[in-house]
Amino acid sequence: MKQPIVIAIDGTSASGKSTNAKLVAKALGYVYVDTGAMYRTLAWYCLQKRVDLHDDNAVAALCRKWKTKLECVEKNGLRAVHLLVDGYFPEKEIRTSETTAAVALVAQVKKVRVWMKRVQRDCIQFGNLVMEGRDIGTNIFPETEFKFFLDAKLEERSARRAADGVQENLAERDRRDSSRATSPLMVALGAKVINNSHMTSEQTSGLLIAEIQKRLAEKK
Ligand code: C5P
Repeated sequence: MKQPIVIAIDGTSASGKSTNAKLVAKALGYVYVDTGAMYRTLAWYCLQKRVDLHDDNAVAALCRKWKTKLECVEKNGLRAVHLLVDGYFPEKEIRTSETTAAVALVAQVKKVRVWMKRVQRDCIQFGNLVMEGRDIGTNIFPETEFKFFLDAKLEERSARRAADGVQENLAERDRRDSSRATSPLMVALGAKVINNSHMTSEQTSGLLIAEIQKRLAEKK
């Protein structure tokens, strides 16, 4: 049987990963997977259960026993994977500033990353994927031939977040994500790096789609 194709899109915070990954998934008819949402869901769940986020063992213990399920949903022409906890996808709750401030802490716990790798690899049950995150090309699907890394100048990324009404210390989150011991944020070997500081999302996604189609044609 033909193996599903995985498009790995990694990059810094607010570099346009979500917007562009969704545009690429829609254009190709692939399933979109937001792995950041999975880490955010765990961070939110820890806050709900009043687990000390600085206690790696307690976070890992919760991750070992929480009741989750993967679900593929279709909305506005986009098929996307959601991680449900206790049958619920906390779509709004995972975007609050409280959850955002907590997420990098849970994301640096080794056992959490091992759990996430298993679950994220399981997503291929839904077919061809566009998966965005920080370690997709380096750690989750290192075997894929489709690796991209998005970046933009810090001022530009901060301006994008501010335009969404979010004030956030992006430099600090990037520093935590890049300096953690397990699967730090870094450019995967063979990844095409796209700095989109001066590009629109139409231009960025257009570049991604053209590059993917070129490589798909070469594979045939
Ligand atoms: O992409 P998003 O900003 O939603 O990611 C939230 C956080 O989740 C990141 O700052 C990072 O700490 C963590 N993350 C990760 N690995 C991924 C995706 C997200 O460590 N693959």
